[in-house]
Formats: sequence, C-alpha cells, structure tokens
Amino acid sequence: MSRIENQFTVNFWGVRGSIPCPGPATVRYGGNTPCVEMQVGGKRLVFDGGTGLHVLGQSLLRQMPVEGHIFFTHSHWDHMQGFPFFSPGFVKGNNFRIYGAIAPDGSTVEQRLNDQMLHPNFPVPLQIMQANLDFYDVRPGEAIRIGEIIVETAPLNHPGEAVGYRVNWGGGAAVYITDTEHFPDRLDENVLWLARDADILIYDCTYTDEEYHSPKSPRIGWGHSTWQEAVKIANFANVKTLVIFHHDPAHDDDFLDLVAKQVAQKHPGAIMAQEGLVLQVPVSMSLSESFPVSKYSA
Ligand SMILES: [Zn+2]
Ligand SMILES: [Zn+2]
Repeated sequence: MSRIENQFTVNFWGVRGSIPCPGPATVRYGGNTPCVEMQVGGKRLVFDGGTGLHVLGQSLLRQMPVEGHIFFTHSHWDHMQGFPFFSPGFVKGNNFRIYGAIAPDGSTVEQRLNDQMLHPNFPVPLQIMQANLDFYDVRPGEAIRIGEIIVETAPLNHPGEAVGYRVNWGGGAAVYITDTEHFPDRLDENVLWLARDADILIYDCTYTDEEYHSPKSPRIGWGHSTWQEAVKIANFANVKTLVIFHHDPAHDDDFLDLVAKQVAQKHPGAIMAQEGLVLQVPVSMSLSESFPVSKYSA
C-alpha cells in the first residue's frame, strides 16, 4: 500500500454558514461556505458544495483525471452554490458520484443541482458538465459502502431537512453534522448515534447559547445549534476531537477567537474549523493485513 492508501485525512475548504463573507475581518477563519473533503484510503469523499468546493476544484485541476464522491447534506444555497463553479465537473474523463436525500417536495439532488443552474440564474446548464456525473438518492438511515469505507447516514433537525454523515474506515470514524438544531429537552438520538465514539465530530455551531436564547432576537427554530450543545454531544457520545463548524457570517475572527477560548475551558482539545485546516484520523496500522486492497470502485 502506498502512503496515501493508509491515510484518513479531513480537509476544510469552507467553514462558514449561510453566506460567503470574505474580507479582512474573516481572513483567518475564512469566508467560504461549507465544503469538507475527506481522503480515505486513497478515495476522495467531499461533503457539501458551498463556495469552498470552488477552491477545492481549482486545486484538483493539477491532478486530473480525478474521481470523487460528493455528499450533500441538503440544498440550501450555502451548501450548493459552489457546484456550478466546480471546474473539474466540466472536464471529460473525471468521475463524480453525487449523493443527497430526496427533499420534502419530492425533488432529487440531481433535480436541485440542475435547477440552480437554469437560465436566468446561471448561464451554463448542468448538462454542459462533461465529467461523468452519477447521482444517488440517499435514504437517511441507510449505510453506503464505497469499497472498504462505510458511510452511515441519519436525518437531522433542519427546515427542509438535512442528512448527517459518518465515515468509517480502518477503525477510525469522522462525522459531519450540519445543519441541525438541538432539541430543548433531550440530546438528538440521531446525532448521538452518528457521533458515537467518533475520532472527529464536525458539528453545526452557528450560534452561542446567549445568541440562541437572546430575549431580543432568539434564534430558536432557525435550524442551527450552538457550541455549548456541541460540547454536550461530544461528552455524551465519547467523541475524541470536536470541531466547531458552520460559523455565523456575523462572527468575525476576533469573535471566533473568544469562542475558541470559551470552548477550550469547557472542552479542552476542541478545534475551531478554519479554511486550510487538515486533521488526521488515526487508523489501525494493521489495516493492510486486515483488509485486502479493494478492487471495487463504487
Ligand atoms: Zn448552512
Ligand atoms: Zn441549511
């Protein structure tokens, strides 16, 4: 096995919720909307297609032909708006399998990616993309196998619904949970199940508890959670590394530095997501003996 086939890395290309917010006040954490790439045993799994997907795409132009698996949590703009600008999608010879759940209105992920590229919203239709695009409708709750990788899924609590993903490989697990709102009276059993004993939990921490419960402008029912709830989940589910993610565009670098300090007091070892962050998931070194190198390419 080459080195890359033994690696499980998590790369952050976009960490911001709701709307891109580039500028001097957000340059350290980054202004691009969600896109997280996991390189797992030589395969590329991408979670969400916010504007961070554009940046990832530009970096892939040097490595073509490329293939990958792109998982969408849902189709709010901040999670799809980078896809029409994903350059490798326009290049023949590239292969992408695209996953997403059927929306409450019955539309598939393929229909929604298609619709956002229709005139007059965008000049180039999806059909112009020359890469081989293969679409898959996720049934939240199912487990998806990609060679030796198992991707578990569960529904999240979000307006219009969203899907959480857990990637298992080589004895390691990384979990991607955004966008989701916690329940007032209990921890979300779907979130706990996905997060169980995970090496890395990336979680929707759009607000602080103070903002969420603000008497003037409560954020209850807006579909997002807080870093304080993330800490509860990480503790209860025995998560090794918690990653604070989906930063509110109103939170500039200085504000996020303050959040980082508060999080560190409550949950030492937690990490603030920022563009360019790369995390390693520890995998069992006996991997090459316990699993044959898969010939199967899903
Ligand atoms: Zn979002
Ligand atoms: Zn959303």
